[in-house]
Amino acid sequence: HLNRIPEMQAARLKLPILAEEQVVMETINDNPIVIICGETGSGKTTQVPQFLYEAGYAHQSGIICVTEPRRVAAISMSKRVAAEMNLTDREISYQIRFEGNTTPETKIKFVTDGVLLKEAQQDPLLTKYSVIIIDEAHERSVYTDILIGLLSIVLRQRAKRGRPLKLIIMSATLRIEDFTSSVLFRYSKPPPIIKVEARQFPVTVHFNKKTIEDYVSEAYKKVCKIHRTLPEGGILVFVTGQQEVHTLVRKLRKMFPYIPGQANLEPTKKESRRERQRKEKLLQEEKKESLLEDVKKIDLNSFSVLPQDDEVAENDYNIDVNSDEENTELKEEEDEEEDLKAMMKEETPDSSIPLYLLPLYSLLSSDKQAQVFEPAPEGCRMCIIATNVAETSLTIPNIRYVVDTGKTKTKFYDKVTGVSTFRVTWVSQASANQRAGRAGRMGPGHCYRLYSSAVFSDFELFTPPEITRRPVEDLVLQMKSMRIDKVANFPFPTPPANEQIKAAESLLMSLGALHPVGNQSIRFNDLKKVKSPVITDLGMVMATFPVAPRYAKMLMLAKTYKVLPYAVALVAALSVDELFIDSIQPSDAEGDKEKWLSKVAKLSIFRSNFIGNAFLLGDMMVLLKAVGACESEGCAVSFCERLGIRFKAMREIRKLRIQLTNAVNTAFPEEDLVVDPNLPPPNEEQNLALRKIVLGGLADHVARRNPAPPPGADKTECNRLKGSFQCMQLEDLVYIHPESVMFKNKDVEFVVYQSMIETSRLYMRGLCCIEAHWF
Ligand code: ADP
Ligand code: MG
Repeated sequence: HLNRIPEMQAARLKLPILAEEQVVMETINDNPIVIICGETGSGKTTQVPQFLYEAGYAHQSGIICVTEPRRVAAISMSKRVAAEMNLTDREISYQIRFEGNTTPETKIKFVTDGVLLKEAQQDPLLTKYSVIIIDEAHERSVYTDILIGLLSIVLRQRAKRGRPLKLIIMSATLRIEDFTSSVLFRYSKPPPIIKVEARQFPVTVHFNKKTIEDYVSEAYKKVCKIHRTLPEGGILVFVTGQQEVHTLVRKLRKMFPYIPGQANLEPTKKESRRERQRKEKLLQEEKKESLLEDVKKIDLNSFSVLPQDDEVAENDYNIDVNSDEENTELKEEEDEEEDLKAMMKEETPDSSIPLYLLPLYSLLSSDKQAQVFEPAPEGCRMCIIATNVAETSLTIPNIRYVVDTGKTKTKFYDKVTGVSTFRVTWVSQASANQRAGRAGRMGPGHCYRLYSSAVFSDFELFTPPEITRRPVEDLVLQMKSMRIDKVANFPFPTPPANEQIKAAESLLMSLGALHPVGNQSIRFNDLKKVKSPVITDLGMVMATFPVAPRYAKMLMLAKTYKVLPYAVALVAALSVDELFIDSIQPSDAEGDKEKWLSKVAKLSIFRSNFIGNAFLLGDMMVLLKAVGACESEGCAVSFCERLGIRFKAMREIRKLRIQLTNAVNTAFPEEDLVVDPNLPPPNEEQNLALRKIVLGGLADHVARRNPAPPPGADKTECNRLKGSFQCMQLEDLVYIHPESVMFKNKDVEFVVYQSMIETSRLYMRGLCCIEAHWF
């Protein structure tokens, strides 16, 4: 009864999964849990929900829910599926943390995994749904992992109540042992696995001979070269973060300017046949020269092509060994010459070959993200500079060349100290191969790896699941509030380390959210007998606030100190990531760093004037003022820009502020809180209370300024000590981040920080002054 548009139907029929519809549906009908594996682009996300819909799963017993680890995917997939089914967003909807368009008529709902987990807190049996699809399970996001564990329990309970729920786990890789493990399915047989064969064209992988440290510049050079010398086809570049995306987009736009309208007027880019033949020949040659023939031969799941021992490695990888020595040298010389030519050309922008450049990263606004699905203007090559987002969640059409820096930015977390840092690291081999695969969706493609094959063989095989890499206090609190007391017994696909759970429990105990049970004075070998701490009444209330336990604690304290309206605004701001535009140091060299430093410092001075006499509240005051001022100025883009604040983040803060106000009113109806758009700045007394509250939530994030360097200390030592602090858990010296309003201050002795980031140094971000006698 769907009335699909013919073109859409034609496009669908080309997808490999369409041939499997019957198998997929029969398996789902016969089994409570089914795993579906298929390469990115095989049609899992867009088609499986439609199969279910057409088989009647959204009609009698509930609706269909699809979870995505990324917001981008939830939004764009709901739109795509609505278009394919010729239905509206009233029926095919999405819900992410701060926005959604679900209606009572919604039949298929795309949500982020975190949203579904929150729903499970209210409705543990997830009664709304007849099927839940966990998409992108290979990404191993924390919420996905927990949902799978939780659903393995929910499924049994729903079956007992005669309202069975179906679970479908979808993955782009075959590495799914963790999902079929006996822990998850100890009461039932392991779920069947459906493999969808995708149409993957061969991808030729080219490794760099040398691994260049400045990978952003290297990527720039590579894109220039591809664009100048190789036949048509889109380019997809993988870098690590927003900052690098913009740097690269800016440089490349300068080099190959695309002026809207002009390319259309002058379709000279239709290359002559000779030119095209020359380029194709060049590609063929490159292919011969390449170190690894096609990615098809790389088994995405076992990596058997990897050198088993050194001898094999030499033969397989190092063409220099096999090929004629003289010949090779000649090649290299030619290479150099060509590089030189290219470099000389690089000086002058070339508008005769425009490049249509698009950035792509998760924090980008949704309409800008959607541009990557639109075709490039006539006669123009498309080039997308992306972060990890493009690895598996989105299938970008018409990519023929992938440029892979091999890098990714990951949040690391020290299991002992709890300090988290962002670090740029190598990706895993699995990720690198996923990235390469992006070039082979439309036809044969090429992947340029900006690192050597030797470096590649040192990559980890797989990215470890997120749950092993981050603090888990929020999860522990959430589980305890759902009466899952023994977190260690929960059926995690990959359990967090014991020390992670212990660290989380001890933080939650210090916040008063948990209380210990049983005998406190225990010997080590009695440890097993100790009961897990249980949730307190305070903890139960804290768990109802949609923010991290630390911030929930601040709200609880704010009630006592009678500053709830301010705390709500502050906590909303603290809970939104990457608020400041320029806060993370760019990684590319060439003088940008100086510029960045002075820009950030200027902003910091501007902000410190802006906060007036509430200096001791520091960056917390910046947040408060920004939220307040933004509200009274109607959240103008220009206002956010002046403060160096991301507009999209400010919108999220506003939404969270409303959400938190409601949550506080639910927890404490007597407060009768409202969102006051004209909240006056806090007075002196409220100011003091706010500083105490911030300390209450961040009591383990205290740092103290080091004394001035002793007279006669050498210069490096002086530089090291200058402006340095010592914090509780770390041996290393830490410093105030230049984005902080306290950056220039030399007097404050004790501070608390919101987070720590490691770039060239360990930097504290989000500072607030405290007094020694408060703790
Ligand atoms: P999978 O989930 O297996 O990676 P998808 O279902 O996401 O595959 O994608 C199947 C196909 O649908 C892709 O090849 C892509 O070309 C197309 N597609 C997906 N989203 C869009 C979109 N927003 N616009 C145009 N085409 C899209
Ligand atoms: Mg998908």
